[in-house]
Amino acid sequence: MDLGGGLFVCGDHRDTPSIQGAMASGARTARAVLRRLRPDSATSA
Ligand SMILES: Cc1cc2nc3c(=O)[nH]c(=O)nc-3n(C[C@H](O)[C@H](O)[C@H](O)COP(=O)(O)OP(=O)(O)OC[C@H]3O[C@@H](n4cnc5c(N)ncnc54)[C@H](O)[C@@H]3O)c2cc1C
Repeated sequence: MDLGGGLFVCGDHRDTPSIQGAMASGARTARAVLRRLRPDSATSA
């Protein structure tokens, strides 16, 4: 999740309390970082 001001957060507390939730949150946050770094790139949510 993009908190703004260059801060991003991920973890199971942002999804389900499991390894699967941690990975899903991490993937979402990675995509948010890519969108911030490369706004023109087409990455889905
Ligand atoms: C006993 C137990 C059994 C589990 N069994 C399962 C299971 O069978 N299957 C399953 O899917 N899930 C299981 N889980 C849940 C799973 O472990 C977690 O959902 C997952 O590890 C969360 O990953 P995360 O990266 O969000 O957080 P974490 O794995 O908790 O990683 C957070 C990291 O941040 C570090 N950290 C914290 N504060 C700071 C700070 N201020 N500065 C720097 N670093 C910091 C911590 O040291 C830690 O390394 C289990 C959990 C427990 C406790």
